[in-house]
Amino acid sequence: MRKMIAAGNWKMNKTNSEAVEIVSKLNELIADVKGVEVIIAPPFTALSDVVKVAGKVKIAAQNMHWEEKGAFTGEISPIMLKNLGVEYVILGHSERRAYFGETNELINKKIKSALAHDLKAIFCVGEKLEDRERGNTENVVEDHIKGGLEGITKEEMMANVIIGYEPVWAIGTGKTATPEQAEEVHAFVRKLLTEMYDAEVAGNTTILYGGSVKPANSKALFSKENIDGGLVGGASLKADDFSIIVRNAL
Ligand code: PEP
Repeated sequence: MRKMIAAGNWKMNKTNSEAVEIVSKLNELIADVKGVEVIIAPPFTALSDVVKVAGKVKIAAQNMHWEEKGAFTGEISPIMLKNLGVEYVILGHSERRAYFGETNELINKKIKSALAHDLKAIFCVGEKLEDRERGNTENVVEDHIKGGLEGITKEEMMANVIIGYEPVWAIGTGKTATPEQAEEVHAFVRKLLTEMYDAEVAGNTTILYGGSVKPANSKALFSKENIDGGLVGGASLKADDFSIIVRNAL
C-alpha cells in the first residue's frame, strides 16, 4: 500500500554503539508520530543490536547477496537478514552501481531473492548528470526500472517494492533536485508502472525521492503529489535532523 516513508541510509558510517545510540534517540523523538513509516539502514555490523532498540523504527540492510548461502566471501544473505529481524533491504543504490559494478540484471536477481525471502525492497534508480544534460533522464530511469523489475509480479509489487528515485548528481552533493524536477520524474515513474502493470500498482507504489534531502528542503519536496517521502543519506545521521524530516513527511 502507498504510504509516506522517511528512510535513512547511513552508508559506511557509525559503529555499532553509535548506531544503537542514534536509533534509540530517534525512537524517542518520533514517539508521537503517526502516519509516516520510519526506516533506518545502518551498516551490517550494527543490524543485530539496532533491531533490539528499534521500537517503531523499521530496520533495513543496505545491500544483500541473492543466494541463501555458499562460497561468496564477504557477502550477506537474505536468510541472515531475516533471521536478525530486518524488514527492508536497499537494492540498486547508485553507489553499488558505480563502485561495485551492479547491473540491472544483478539488481533484478537481488530484488527477486529479497521478495522470495519476505524482505521488502527499496529499489533505487536515477540518472547521472550527463544523462540529465543530454535529455536522457527518462530513458535511464525507464531502463533501470524495466531491468530491475523484470519478472516481478503485480502482487509482489503491491506488497513489497518501494522505489527510490535518486538522481546521482544530487546524492551527497548538496544539489537537490527542485520539487518540480523531482515531481516530473516521479510522475513519469508512475506512468511507467501503469504501462508495465496497471493503475492499481502505479497508485499504490511508494516512490521516495533521494538526493541531498535536508530538514530545510524536505517539506517542499514531500508536498508534491507523487513524492511519498524521502531516502536520506547525510541528514539521517543525526537523530534531531532526521526527526524533522520525518515530521515534514506528515
Ligand atoms: C543516499 O545515499 O541515498 C542519499 C540520497 O544521500 P544524501 O541524502 O546524502 O544525498
